[in-house]
Amino acid sequence: MISRTEATGASQQPMEIITVLGSTGSVGESTLDVIGRNPGRYRVAALTAHRNTRRLAEQCAQFDAQLAVIADSSRENELYQALKELDCRAAVLSGESGLVEAASLAGVDSVMASIVGAAGLKPTLAAAESGKKVLLANKESLVIAGEVFTLAARQAGARVLPVDSEHNAIFQALPGGFEKGLDNVGVERIILTASGGPFLDMPTAELAQVTPAQACKHPNWDMGRKISVDSATLMNKGLEVIEARWLFDAQAEQIEVLIHPQSIVHSMVAYRDGSVLAQLGTPDMRTPIAHALAWPQRIEAGVNRLNLAQVGELSFREPDFDRFPCLGLAFAAMRAAGNAPVILNAGNEIAVEAFLNERIAFDQIPILVDKVMQRLENRAVRTIGDVLEQDKLARAVANEIMEELL
Ligand code: NDP
Repeated sequence: MISRTEATGASQQPMEIITVLGSTGSVGESTLDVIGRNPGRYRVAALTAHRNTRRLAEQCAQFDAQLAVIADSSRENELYQALKELDCRAAVLSGESGLVEAASLAGVDSVMASIVGAAGLKPTLAAAESGKKVLLANKESLVIAGEVFTLAARQAGARVLPVDSEHNAIFQALPGGFEKGLDNVGVERIILTASGGPFLDMPTAELAQVTPAQACKHPNWDMGRKISVDSATLMNKGLEVIEARWLFDAQAEQIEVLIHPQSIVHSMVAYRDGSVLAQLGTPDMRTPIAHALAWPQRIEAGVNRLNLAQVGELSFREPDFDRFPCLGLAFAAMRAAGNAPVILNAGNEIAVEAFLNERIAFDQIPILVDKVMQRLENRAVRTIGDVLEQDKLARAVANEIMEELL
């Protein structure tokens, strides 16, 4: 039984019980950092990782988690050992079923969904289906299964709060809420800002030579490797466009992308009366994480305060769809709907992994994604089974095409 109260001085404060999926990653670590800064407010129930047993065990010991889940089942024993060495008594589960169990544990209030990629879909969906408050970082869940996911969350009464900094900014710039529909609160457009990544001004001909290390070195944000590459190709912004479509029930025409290299304005909402509301802050994921964790309250996040005089200038420009074809592919997938976003995402995951393993060049990422999208017919996806089937098919086709590219 997870205890919800803890003596904090003279008073007994009810604690929010939280599970962090993907706790060893960039968002997961930042989440635990914020939780650690707010003692007495949160109790950690379960933590999960893919392979990093050492870090997972350390986190479980530090936060006194009751359950540790390792997705790679072959590492279950390694996790037992690591926990034992740290004298931590967390129970151990493994595999996808373990992740789903962690996501739907009875007594847990909130689930931070911060697994990377389509691997996060089933556990994130399980959290929504069991009516948890879902703090959504795993954008891929909404990209590939937007309709199924939003419907499941609605039916279970689960609240989905955006953690992605842009969507969190939009949420903050919607004081009238968005559950009533954007039109009903006077919204005309959603403007997603994008830093443009490390290759914003690099001559196009040089993009073929960039290395994974260069692509992963984002000018403003410190993130996991996959999302860093996505930021460099602007596929991340494309995925976010589709994420925004589902999170805010927006029409394709209502979503715009604006390049803003300083990453200070995290996104904006333009209203019918000409007002534009923006959320600003230093680029640190702990701000949107803290906002989603504590909403509607505000808590300490440990971030540097924004000093606009020091920043000096904020600049904006239109995105270059020729230089960054992934952005156009994502808009096309959103408009095509059905299985198109699933194919886009699967092709991209395969392409990014191949680039990180130095099998294909950086500028081959959009080529591979485009070819996969062209080779597969557009179909409706109505169930999670349809989504997973299309995801598997697109991955197989992407691997075939990659062999042709090599
Ligand atoms: P990381 O790569 O840093 O971390 C991913 C986490 O997921 C790790 O805990 C990892 O475990 C786990 N994981 C990886 N593969 C699997 C799998 N197959 N099954 C189960 N668990 C797995 O990613 P980020 O933290 O950067 O990103 C997480 C999500 O948040 C992504 O969807 C990303 O788009 C989104 N996001 C990230 C932002 C950022 O600043 N990083 C900003 C906004 C959104 P292990 O450590 O063992 O590999």
